[in-house]
Amino acid sequence: MHIDLKEVTPKGLHLSRNINLALPPSIEEVDVINPCFVELKLTPIGTKYRIIGSIRLKLKLQCSRCSESYPFDLFSDFDLLYLPIEKMTSEVELELKDKDANIAYYSEDRIELLELLQEQVLLALPMKPICSEECKGLCLSCGTNLNISSCNCKSVSIDPRLEKLKKIKELFNK
Ligand SMILES: [Zn+2]
Ligand SMILES: [Zn+2]
Repeated sequence: MHIDLKEVTPKGLHLSRNINLALPPSIEEVDVINPCFVELKLTPIGTKYRIIGSIRLKLKLQCSRCSESYPFDLFSDFDLLYLPIEKMTSEVELELKDKDANIAYYSEDRIELLELLQEQVLLALPMKPICSEECKGLCLSCGTNLNISSCNCKSVSIDPRLEKLKKIKELFNK
């Protein structure tokens, strides 16, 4: 999946469609539920191309507390400026107004759309996915999923330092 820049007219192009996206195999704990919806506008600026767009998709993530998978709706906006790869070594040439933009590079008159989208999805993933704020996670002793059932393990023993503090408090309260 790529955009052939030789076919882009000065007016640019607009793309709005469903696509099938796969993430790199190294991202094991994330499943994409296809199709994904992509909308973008590409505008040529000399040899540069600005791409403004968004991607919307459904994922299956793995909860970091209880390790169950759960559905996740992801929406990501992006605004990128593509420069020809030859410019990579001469970034000084970047105009001031370009400096804040997210810079990407293209070569051989093509922009790899798949790479762009994969990257945007990865950037938008939660660092610590949780199925719900209330997720109770797994019991540290026996591994029971505490959202589904309970176990007979005694709750984690109190830190001895806290225990001491508790005694002192009790003394004061007398
Ligand atoms: Zn969970
Ligand atoms: Zn337990």
